[in-house]
Amino acid sequence: MYTIAIIGYGGMGGWHAKQLLSLPEEFRLAGIYDINPDRIEAAEKDGIHGYPTLDALLSDPEIRTVILAVPNNFHKPLSIQAMRAGKNVICEKPVMMNAAELEEVIAVSKETGRQFSVHQNRRWDKDFLMVKKLIEDGSIGKPFYIESRVQGSKGIPGDWRCVREAGGGMLLDWGVHLIDQLMYLIDSPVTEVYAHLLSVKFPGVDDNFKLMMRFHNGLSALVEVDTYTFINLPRWHVSGDSGTAQIDDFSCTGRIVRARTEEMRWEPGIVYTVAGPTRTMAPRPKESIEELPLPALESDARDYYRNFRDADEGKTPLAVTPDQALRVMRVIDAVFASAEKGTSISLHI
Ligand code: NAD
Repeated sequence: MYTIAIIGYGGMGGWHAKQLLSLPEEFRLAGIYDINPDRIEAAEKDGIHGYPTLDALLSDPEIRTVILAVPNNFHKPLSIQAMRAGKNVICEKPVMMNAAELEEVIAVSKETGRQFSVHQNRRWDKDFLMVKKLIEDGSIGKPFYIESRVQGSKGIPGDWRCVREAGGGMLLDWGVHLIDQLMYLIDSPVTEVYAHLLSVKFPGVDDNFKLMMRFHNGLSALVEVDTYTFINLPRWHVSGDSGTAQIDDFSCTGRIVRARTEEMRWEPGIVYTVAGPTRTMAPRPKESIEELPLPALESDARDYYRNFRDADEGKTPLAVTPDQALRVMRVIDAVFASAEKGTSISLHI
């Protein structure tokens, strides 16, 4: 049985506990530690062992791996401490506050021989896997532009997420998921980023942002995270050179519209539309396009833990590697720099 413990029993620590407890034949949850005694008490009420101190948890020889589900500014010191205590580490996202921190942590992982990974669970989201499948299947031809966004209207919960020094803000929150997904999906270096980080309601952190990314293979992407939008745009809008896919939301409603194989035949003269006289923006003749539903797809986010265990046991390569995380953090550093300078930043990562 593969034994895991959790440090930080808040929202995400509770989620990890629930996921692991749902796989009793595969994982043993040894217990949790939280700096807040109320949370240890809450764990015990949930039937989970609460370690009285961090040292007590880290010195338990039964524990092979710890999950860090604490605010972002604690990721670095706790990762280093846990690996030095002989534990593998699954760190919550954002893996660190910046690339320099991650370089230090990777050095400790190499020095101690402990496995380190970041919980990029949204690589297992159905909407993302759908986009990946459509691109791999060639369903819309060669993609040239991808929009990926999440939008809410409730602002940011008024906790550490509003505090810059704690790693607050949406770029390090949802942004890191969406950027990781795109960099995993597109097998080409990022060559340019240009970002507007906005503080609409929460001074000091970005509560809404818009990011343009360019990849070496010519593909461009827009990443948007909003916490103050009342009319949502689609989760994904993907343009390929033979069609478009739209995925509206996390439940994967949406559609594919694409050109039929025959050549587009242009009308000989001007066309009058509701937009006035235009040939370019006139609708395509109906027979020249086809509309398809999105394919069915299954996914289990718990495969993240299974992969981590199997990689630790030498059975398979690690799915979310420190090197991938470092690429993402370097891009995030560049995104912050772009927003601060008000210019685009060229890079090759
Ligand atoms: P939270 O505020 O709900 O919980 C954090 C917990 O950590 C609290 O119980 C707090 O008492 C405890 N804590 C704080 N400092 C500690 C320390 N030094 N040692 C031990 N415990 C400490 O926050 P959350 O929403 O659970 O977020 C935790 C982490 O999980 C963050 O890094 C966040 O970005 C990440 N997260 C990831 C996802 C995801 O989908 N992967 C979703 C939400 C949050």
